[in-house]
Amino acid sequence: MSQGTLFDIQHFGVHDGPGIRTLVFMKGCPLRCSWCCNPESHSAMPQVRYIRFRCKACHRCTEACTRGAITPINGSVLINYDKCRACTSRTCLDVCYHEALNLTGYSLDAKELLTIVSKDLVFYRNSGGGVTFTGGEPLSQPDFLLESLRLCQDAGIHTAIETCGYGNPDSVKAISPHTDLFLFDIKIINPDIHLRHTGQSNDVIIRNLDYLAKEHKHIILRFPLISGITDTEENIGEIIGLMKKLNLQEIQLEPYHTLGESKYEEFGVLHTENLIPEILNYPVETVIERFHAAGIACEVA
Ligand code: SF4
Ligand code: SF4
Repeated sequence: MSQGTLFDIQHFGVHDGPGIRTLVFMKGCPLRCSWCCNPESHSAMPQVRYIRFRCKACHRCTEACTRGAITPINGSVLINYDKCRACTSRTCLDVCYHEALNLTGYSLDAKELLTIVSKDLVFYRNSGGGVTFTGGEPLSQPDFLLESLRLCQDAGIHTAIETCGYGNPDSVKAISPHTDLFLFDIKIINPDIHLRHTGQSNDVIIRNLDYLAKEHKHIILRFPLISGITDTEENIGEIIGLMKKLNLQEIQLEPYHTLGESKYEEFGVLHTENLIPEILNYPVETVIERFHAAGIACEVA
């Protein structure tokens, strides 16, 4: 049985699929969206997180790290994540008594995950809920995802995945029969603009969406509203056009927020974009009306 790497499991979620749900956050993502609020999901590996405001500059971690990855700097420390990446000893964590360093990410197999999510069975049954695999990108761990979906399905648990759609088409085909609901991100239709803002073309994303639509899977699109990037007249029109073509009838809007900004420093992730304004090109209500006018069910996620 394959191992999966998660960065969180949250219970009693009510926004990511029907009923009360357990949310399984999987590490690793092939996209680098300029507005991402989950930098801890980028790497597929467990990572040391540095919380600067807790640091007392005692420098025990500097002495404990045999790779020389931690440098004292102006009353705090600087972690060289290139040196840190392959470390398994993580001696720094043992000597930080102020909880300024902790580990994000851990491994388990699908049976262990089933044991955890099964504790919420009574809530799923009473609410029509289930398990939602999110991330990160669940498709970046296809074997673990498939095994987990199968086990959940065999246990009578409703399954959903929230995906950016960027995954091997064979993996998408394999998981499709075991997934009751796809929360499928649609960001930008123009492939060049998509590449510029996410680091990848959207060819395979559109192909996977097309496949799932033809399989008549239950798909709810999720559309992040990012000022001047995704919420343009042209992009919204093209999303409506794609939905009509694929006969997709539901979309949920995700207005941008800046809550993830501080995490970039904590995970040593370079954030190259200037801060994106939270003010949108159009009010959310206007975007909702635009989809409604096209006969598409639309709400805020
Ligand atoms: S995880 Fe390992 S390499 Fe990284 S800072 Fe800690 S001890 Fe050093
Ligand atoms: S051991 Fe913890 S508190 Fe001390 S310098 Fe390192 S991160 Fe800061």
